[in-house]
Amino acid sequence: MFETVIGLEVHVQLNTKTKLFCSCPTSFAEHQNSNTCPTCLALPGALPVVNKEAAIKAMRFANAIEAQIDEASRFDRKSYFYPDSPSAYQITQFYAPILRDGKVTIDLADGTQKTIRVTEAHLEADAGKNMHEGAVSKVDLNRAGTPLLEIVSAPDMRSADEAVAYLKKLHATVRYLDISDANMQEGSFRCDVNISIRPKGQEAFGTRVEVKNINSFRFVAQAIAYEVQRQTEAYEDGVYEQEVVQETRLFDVNKGVTRSMRGKEEAADYRYFPEPDLRPLIVTEEMKAAARELPELPDQKVARYTSEWKIKRDDALVIVADKNLANYFETLVAEGAAPKQAVTWLTSELTGRLNKLSKSIEESPVEATTLATLIKRIEEGVISGKGGKELLDHMMENNERDVDALIEKLGLEQVSDDGAILAMIDEILADNEDKVAEYKAGKEKLFGFFVGQVMKASKGSANPGKVNQLLKERLS
Ligand code: ADP
Ligand code: ZN
Ligand code: MG
Repeated sequence: MFETVIGLEVHVQLNTKTKLFCSCPTSFAEHQNSNTCPTCLALPGALPVVNKEAAIKAMRFANAIEAQIDEASRFDRKSYFYPDSPSAYQITQFYAPILRDGKVTIDLADGTQKTIRVTEAHLEADAGKNMHEGAVSKVDLNRAGTPLLEIVSAPDMRSADEAVAYLKKLHATVRYLDISDANMQEGSFRCDVNISIRPKGQEAFGTRVEVKNINSFRFVAQAIAYEVQRQTEAYEDGVYEQEVVQETRLFDVNKGVTRSMRGKEEAADYRYFPEPDLRPLIVTEEMKAAARELPELPDQKVARYTSEWKIKRDDALVIVADKNLANYFETLVAEGAAPKQAVTWLTSELTGRLNKLSKSIEESPVEATTLATLIKRIEEGVISGKGGKELLDHMMENNERDVDALIEKLGLEQVSDDGAILAMIDEILADNEDKVAEYKAGKEKLFGFFVGQVMKASKGSANPGKVNQLLKERLS
């Protein structure tokens, strides 16, 4: 039997206004190569200056994962030649990264938790983009020099599930911190997955391969599953040494397989040396103060939801995984919906309907304040749960948002009026004298029959709680 060992390197694009070493905007540009200047074009003589906002955002992340901040981190040159990097080197932090020794806690399916160590995270400049159009290749340097925070984990994960849980937690954390939009499709949150196996009980790690640049949680899981199988088979067939070599591989999303891209570079291949054009990044008191203010993070939200609002931990985990879902939920409660009802209406009723429309929570046609009113009307007994669903269905497809007017228009109001319900009860009881006699003689099962008849007579509009209560009184 084998054990899987996984370590992740995640590249997070920081959402600063300007690039890491020049004042070019990072915002979308209509034209290729328009967000560029002598520095990010690497023209001779242009000098880099470190972006303070990027440093503060990295420090906020450090504080969120309880890491050590290096108050004098340094930059280095990593040499490689590729058309999307006109300087033929990348400025990164190799010898003295801005942060070390953080930790990220993940929740596992069996309800337990595990801490994954973050060895370090460093600031570096992104490359541009090569675009291949038939026989022609073009280079767009709008992205060149955009700040990245590369977050390196220790080889602490033991399954694809743990790796995905870690990635989701990191993703949520940088979104809450508002240091990145972490849009995976657009590549502002992408990761390299290092995978090895070892026989259970063996202490030494096996040979790892690095699968580069995966941009979805599902692909991460698929790439790990494929590698674990490939490496295990090689081991069992006695060809582990030949077939599992330290190398860089690519994941083919169409075939679900990984393929060798190139042999693993050693640090020496990159000829790292200190960046001569930049001095150490000195952290000032002002920067420390700016990085200290943190929003409420996922773990703290889970603690608050479970203790103050008595929400089940599993439900809380689902809600806090997405910042927008958590905001929506907190608005529901702030507007007066009972927390437990809010969970159900948000995570099953609304989310289910949004999934069918392939919409995310921020695209929800029904706003939190409106859904809160709907939930309150159920709690007040004005409409039934079933009526609430009908009302929500209606609002998903129409623009009317006056909940009370809609209740009237759709005829959803429950009959809670004692007189009206009693009148129906008396009629049912009069029509079923024989059953009433049986009930009184001890056949208590018949109670359900009477409830059903009253509900039917009211065409479902009677408040079931009231029906139960009044029937009991009448029959006693
Ligand atoms: P390098 O210096 O060659 O980049 P690192 O020690 O920095 O290597 O590790 C890079 C990544 O690979 C880290 O995320 C680390 O956790 C992971 N890693 C290291 N060894 C293994 C292994 N045997 N199996 C899986 N992942 C590993
Ligand atoms: Zn520039
Ligand atoms: Mg490394």
